[in-house]
Amino acid sequence: MELQGMHFKEYKTPQEIDTLVGQVAGQINHDYQGLKPVFVVVLTGAFMYASDLLRKMTMPTEVAFVKLRSYVGTETTGEVQETVPVTADIMDRDVIVIEDIIDTGLSMRYLKKRLYQLGAKTVRVTSFLFKPDALQYPESAPEYPALLIPHQFVIGYGLDLDQQARNLPSLYIYDKSKVESVIVR
Ligand code: 5GP
Ligand code: MG
Repeated sequence: MELQGMHFKEYKTPQEIDTLVGQVAGQINHDYQGLKPVFVVVLTGAFMYASDLLRKMTMPTEVAFVKLRSYVGTETTGEVQETVPVTADIMDRDVIVIEDIIDTGLSMRYLKKRLYQLGAKTVRVTSFLFKPDALQYPESAPEYPALLIPHQFVIGYGLDLDQQARNLPSLYIYDKSKVESVIVR
C-alpha cells in the first residue's frame, strides 16, 4: 500500500486483530469482575480499538474521553496538554485508559498523573500497541498491551499518517526495504 509516497505493508489482518483484542478483553473481564470501571478513551487514535474492546466487556462499564496534544522539544522534555478534558467524574473510580499506542510514554505519564489528581482510585492502561524499545518513561508501560511491536511507524486501525488511514481495518507497518531498494538503484 502507498500513502504520501511511503510504502506500507499489512502487518496484522482484521482477523488477527480481533484475536488480540479478545485476549486483552479476557484479561480485563477477569481482573475487573464485580467492579464498575470507567474507561477513558484517548482521542483520536484509540477510537477503533476502544469500539472493539468495549463490545467484549462483560462488566458494567462507563465510557469517557480525553484528548491530548504533546509537544516534544528538540532538547528539553516534552510538554502535554489536554485539548479535551476528561469527560467524566472519576473521583474514587477504577479507571482503565484505552490508548492506541505507547511510544516514548510521555503522553501516558502525563495522563496517569492527571487522573490521580482528579481523584481516581486506581488507574491501569490498555494500549493496542506498545513499542518497548522506544519507552523512555517506565511508569507508562501498559498493564494490558494487545501487541508489542518494533520501533517502527505503523498506521491503520485508528492510527494516522497526517490524519489519513485511521479507517483502515488492518494494521500497516512502514516498509523500509522498499525505500532502500529505490535508493540503491
Ligand atoms: P508517546 O511518545 O507519548 O508515547 O506517543 C504519543 C503519540 O505518538 C501516540 O499516541 C501516537 O499518536 C503517536 N505515535 C507514536 N508512534 C506512532 C506510530 O507508529 N504511528 C502513528 N500513527 N502514531 C504514532
Ligand atoms: Mg494517542
